[in-house]
Amino acid sequence: MQATMMQVPLNLCHFLERAGKLFGSAEIVSRMPDKSIHRSTYADLHRRARLLAQALQQAGLRKGERVATLMWNHYAHFESYMGAIASGGVLHTLNLRLAPEEIGFIADHAQDRFLIVDDILLPLFEQFREHTRIEQVIVVPLTGRPVPAPYIDYEAFLARADGDWDYPPMDENDPIAMCYTSGTTGRPKGVVYSHRSQVLHTLAQCMPDAVGISGRDTILPVVPMFHANAWGIPYAACMLGSRIVFPGPHLHPDDLLPLLEQEQVTIACGVPTIWLGLIQLLEREPGRWKFDSRLRLTVGGSAVPESLIRAYARQGIELVQGWGMTETSPLATISKATQCQDGIGEDERFSLLASQGYPIPLVDLRIAGDEGEQPWDGQAVGEIQVRGPWITGGYHALAQSQDSFTADGWLRTGDVAAVTPHGFVRITDRTKDLIKSGGEWISSVDLENAIMGHPCVAEAAVIAVPHPKWAERPLAVIVARQGAALTAEDMRAFLAQRFVKWMVPDAYAFVDAIPRTSTGKFLKSALRERYRDWRWDDAASSPG
Ligand code: ADP
Repeated sequence: MQATMMQVPLNLCHFLERAGKLFGSAEIVSRMPDKSIHRSTYADLHRRARLLAQALQQAGLRKGERVATLMWNHYAHFESYMGAIASGGVLHTLNLRLAPEEIGFIADHAQDRFLIVDDILLPLFEQFREHTRIEQVIVVPLTGRPVPAPYIDYEAFLARADGDWDYPPMDENDPIAMCYTSGTTGRPKGVVYSHRSQVLHTLAQCMPDAVGISGRDTILPVVPMFHANAWGIPYAACMLGSRIVFPGPHLHPDDLLPLLEQEQVTIACGVPTIWLGLIQLLEREPGRWKFDSRLRLTVGGSAVPESLIRAYARQGIELVQGWGMTETSPLATISKATQCQDGIGEDERFSLLASQGYPIPLVDLRIAGDEGEQPWDGQAVGEIQVRGPWITGGYHALAQSQDSFTADGWLRTGDVAAVTPHGFVRITDRTKDLIKSGGEWISSVDLENAIMGHPCVAEAAVIAVPHPKWAERPLAVIVARQGAALTAEDMRAFLAQRFVKWMVPDAYAFVDAIPRTSTGKFLKSALRERYRDWRWDDAASSPG
């Protein structure tokens, strides 16, 4: 017997067509660099994304070629998300926070051919352009100033197309988007998404028991659109016609608070650093801000402190934690109480919500220790390994490595956790040698190599230390050469020449020796333990 169901390929462009047909009048709000508000609709998104797709094809884009974006969150980035995919191209979102050389490496490795860039980011692009094979540069005139030659004005580019156009044939396994993730050592690695992976991710993400997104929501993605598909928000909003509010380049709590209120946002998504800053303002002036009663926050990218969840609860705002990676599209687990937790006490409930939560449907999760798979008893710890239709099975143009994937095909996440009998994951450590500061990765290994290049340094280890504002910041533990007089200020100045500002450690500990393992490697777990309670002089300081 055979099933009688049609074999219709899953296709993200279905969401764009649906948005154009069903939700044409729903609003897309964008904050511009001068803080004015730009308002457009899903009818505009539908029309302009298709124009972009047609114009890209007319400009020579062939199926599967990369269309890079170097942009903040706004309507034109949304159009690029959908338009690049509609054209048969692969959307490649570049992380504008990285050092120019690194962005250049990534753009070259992905073989980006087209670039859509905000005019205010052109100076950044010009710092790495020569390292890439980008041929056509389309500039979004966010400031309204004329686009300098030889760049192509985004509006003029769209005007080349007439809309008399149809989608190219697409298979559900075709590549549609890609995003690079930091490598612990070596270079960043590219993850390539498909129609199938993103359609399924979107459906699962929108369920009430996952993020719970409705067409009646107004969504504020503070998470940058260059991070892991903006956590899937653009695709979800397009599928449902949810009103969406883009913050543009203004991510400071002082800017976000009025936006949340004025636009009556009902879901806002971002890393803990954003919400840590915002709660201080809320608590300073209780009752001042009049939010929509449905407002809730979706938070991930770093562990969410229980105190933060409690602080928002006191303001009547639910904070829901998710865990995932660029490799997992990104949503893999979500922290919401299920009916199996009915009746637990308040303290237990908050503790549960501060865990990373349970796997969402279609994500298989296990923890693996030295002796193999560990029981879900809430005690045994091991590396989280995952498998599922929106989890990457490899990296773009890289050989399969046992460091990243198990022999039986699971993704090794580098996060260490215990899992309760009800499937709630609690991350306790990380095997990957990286620091996550304000949602962005810093490589310990790169910093160590640079520090050890200083003539006065004998050896150095860089570890992540908990920080009240940035979730983590790097601490450099340094053994100076005998007789050398080395200060934190010297090191800071030395590293400032080699790293973007926010990557440079603020904290330095000068020691006589660094603890080692039996095989002579730095024992970083001992260092992390020793410096866990590092006193940050100025918790509010900005790493830039
Ligand atoms: P994203 O862009 O979603 O932050 P990345 O691939 O840059 O994705 O980072 C993924 C990593 O971030 C995870 O492997 C984990 O180490 C960390 N992470 C993400 N969410 C959480 C969370 N809720 N709690 C703790 N760590 C998290």
